[in-house]
Amino acid sequence: SKGPPPLPSPLTRAEALRRLTQAFSAAGLANPRGDARFLAEHALGLSASELILQGQAPLGEAGARALEEAAAKRLAGEPVARIIGAWEFWGLPFRLSPETLVPRPDTETLVEASLRLFPEPARPLRLVDLGTGSGCILVALLHERSHAFGIGLDSSRDALATARENATANGIGTRAAFLRGCWLDALSGPFDLIVSNPPYIGTGVIPTLDAEVRGHDPMAALDGGPDGLDAYRAIFSEIARRPRLLAPGGALAVEIGYDQAETVTALGRKAGFSDITLAHDLAGHPRVVTLRPSLS
Ligand code: GLN
Repeated sequence: SKGPPPLPSPLTRAEALRRLTQAFSAAGLANPRGDARFLAEHALGLSASELILQGQAPLGEAGARALEEAAAKRLAGEPVARIIGAWEFWGLPFRLSPETLVPRPDTETLVEASLRLFPEPARPLRLVDLGTGSGCILVALLHERSHAFGIGLDSSRDALATARENATANGIGTRAAFLRGCWLDALSGPFDLIVSNPPYIGTGVIPTLDAEVRGHDPMAALDGGPDGLDAYRAIFSEIARRPRLLAPGGALAVEIGYDQAETVTALGRKAGFSDITLAHDLAGHPRVVTLRPSLS
């Protein structure tokens, strides 16, 4: 007798995840398992624990299509954060847009160093984040300092809209304002803390960056001019010219490239800062310079 052909047993989520991990591994991706998990959670609309605990459920047709689409993008070299359109920083979720840098773990060093400068959790602080991008630095600081207010400045309207959305979604929207501008030009202060992760890659070094950075992060967030130091010069010289930008006891905290500690420190001293410290990232590179002006 000719019955219907046996139905293929439906592909489970767990099996789909295993196959995706194998495909990513075969393609030489650096983090095949992590990438596969993130994309599966995103494509299936599941939390990390749901994906594990409900792994024996069938993948389903819609899930399979969504996962295939995400996998194809990843295999074409699109970073996971760009595919998802969001990334985590300081344990908080941030939406991304084409004009915002993907938040880097190294930048948490900047948040930590900034918090160490102002250790009292309830102190009312006036902050400004220059080149705020997704807003991740400012949002993390306002999250940790419940009496602080901050301005996030950026030259990109698209980034400002994204940052505003992230501030609201993370519950600190009423303590943050977002403004379009160029470094400190339009600001009068005084600020207790001026913080920035400016573009600091030398223009000539950009072509050597990882293709996933070069092809997907905004150049305006990376290109720091011929020697990578243009932003530091602009920020430092403006504070030297208008010392009232900093409140009494105020400080500046900037992220730097792994090999820029000496040059940025020297620029800072030249601009009249005296109390200068370095903070190191998890790889042990100097990653943050904090500066306070000499008392006059
Ligand atoms: N750390 C980033 C990178 O390695 C650079 C960010 C920046 O220029 N501020 O791509």
